[in-house]
Amino acid sequence: QRHQDVDASIRLTDADAALARLSAVQRGYLQDPFIKPMVPRAHQQPLRSPLINVGTFVRSTAIDSLVYGWLELAALAENPCQIVSLGAGSDTRFWRIATGPHKDRLAKYIEIDFPEVTAKKAMAIRKNKDLSAILGDVKLANGGTSLQGPVYNLLSADLRLPPSETLAPLLTAPLPSNPSASSSQPDPLLSPSLPTLLLFECVLVYMAPEASSALIRWFVDYFSSDNQEHAVLGGIVYEMFGLNDSFGRVMLNNLKSRNVLLPGVEPYPSESSLPNRFLNHKFTIAHALTLREIRKSFIPPADINRISKLEMLDEVEELDLVLQHYAITWGIKLPNGVDGSKPKA
Ligand code: SAM
Repeated sequence: QRHQDVDASIRLTDADAALARLSAVQRGYLQDPFIKPMVPRAHQQPLRSPLINVGTFVRSTAIDSLVYGWLELAALAENPCQIVSLGAGSDTRFWRIATGPHKDRLAKYIEIDFPEVTAKKAMAIRKNKDLSAILGDVKLANGGTSLQGPVYNLLSADLRLPPSETLAPLLTAPLPSNPSASSSQPDPLLSPSLPTLLLFECVLVYMAPEASSALIRWFVDYFSSDNQEHAVLGGIVYEMFGLNDSFGRVMLNNLKSRNVLLPGVEPYPSESSLPNRFLNHKFTIAHALTLREIRKSFIPPADINRISKLEMLDEVEELDLVLQHYAITWGIKLPNGVDGSKPKA
């Protein structure tokens, strides 16, 4: 029962993230024509405080620039790339990429979330011509919880369960309608030989460390299995952390009162510990920056200047306190052998 209540609260965090995005768009911080159709009764939803809007702007701008950087790097190589978004919720990133300059770089864009969340998303997509037209020829499957398209795929799973039982059947099974299926080895949905970026945007904090570790481990193993030509694996994590100082404890109590933290699950303790999410799995490099550092040093001054004129921000000190408890961590794992490590015998 406790688990079910917590799961319902965790699923609600998607509505929260989507409303924050909608608010930032309506206030002029971000441009995203695709978020409105994802939110039921969008025109009646209250706007968020300036502090939340600025936070949403910094997070979104930083993750976009990492994702676009990845797509540009992939453009230098011959192969197109794959993106897998874990706990994707109502995220609109696929539609923004698919209508932007990097649209031809995507071989697959795969989103995974709880079935209740993916069923709602599949419905919202099918009800909106702008969203569905961009997907091409998609098929609704698995009782309305999945969409299967040539590039975009929406799938349901509980990411805390063992990946060999949940992810493997979804991602590595041969594609049924693949035209190359007549060849001896039909392609799986997720190719282990294409550069692939894993996105964990505000999702790992809801799982036990063992579960998030098993998730990353599964992808690492899949992309370094012996019989495959290996590809580069990238990862981006956005999460709150360091909730053991006085302001952090207020944030932690807020999470507990919203019933979204499973007993025993604690965010990472410090900024310096965050890269371990990837380094523990033999990623070649990994770095983390807080949203506070990103706002101060990485968002172009012209953007900071532009958003400062959108609305009055009274809580400047509180903004810094909040932003220093959120971080973006990114890592890259070069194929075995490229980074000097020996391929397995
Ligand atoms: N990534 C999206 C974004 O940044 O806008 C949504 C973030 S929302 C805060 C967290 C999402 O993770 C929710 O959609 C929730 O349902 C999903 N999620 C959390 N735990 C999950 C699990 N164990 N399995 C599948 N999805 C999960």
